[in-house]
Amino acid sequence: MAVFKKPAIKAEAGKKREIPRGIFEKCPGCGQVVPETELAQNQRVCPRCDYHQAQSASERIQSLLDPDTFVEMDADLKSVDVLRFQGMATYKDRLKKYQESTGLVDAVISGYGILDGYKVAIAVMDFGFLAATMGSVVGEKITRAIEYGTAQRCGVVIVAASGGARMYEGMLSLMQMAKTSGALAQHAHERLPYISVYFCSDKPNDRWSHGQLRFAGRRYYR
Ligand SMILES: [Zn+2]
Repeated sequence: MAVFKKPAIKAEAGKKREIPRGIFEKCPGCGQVVPETELAQNQRVCPRCDYHQAQSASERIQSLLDPDTFVEMDADLKSVDVLRFQGMATYKDRLKKYQESTGLVDAVISGYGILDGYKVAIAVMDFGFLAATMGSVVGEKITRAIEYGTAQRCGVVIVAASGGARMYEGMLSLMQMAKTSGALAQHAHERLPYISVYFCSDKPNDRWSHGQLRFAGRRYYR
């Protein structure tokens, strides 16, 4: 017979003390809880320990371009499951999942805007969408942004953050390298400026295509 009677502990509905999503975020660097607004104002650098969190594509565009000058292009371009990919999850399911979690249609936002007074065409990849792998839509949007820059005779800025080729699209994914490279070669031929901002990537297809660091060696992308 038990000497002490165990009090019955019941979870009270609605009394869970969780951090509300989107209001606070736990810093991976110092473990402290930081208000989301403070992180956003500080370009996602922790004000307590200076830890740099990854910016989303739209945050990067906001921090790079002059305020309210960005005009998005090809926003409706959507990936198609050409290979009818089956695996742990289908390609269609993956796309849907990441479209919901990021609010993006695919892993890149492209368009044009003003950067420090100069018009630029810009494409920014978002690592949060399927590790910013380069499928047909990503390649096409980047190519169109470059071609727009060439046609408008303005600079092109590409923020590359790719996790490599998108395996769900097989060969079609690999073909994007040639496409973006070709457009950039044409842009360079017209003697127009190109700036490659490079982060969050460890796969070579980015570097070899729109990263344009093929012959540069390691010191360029450190
Ligand atoms: Zn921190």
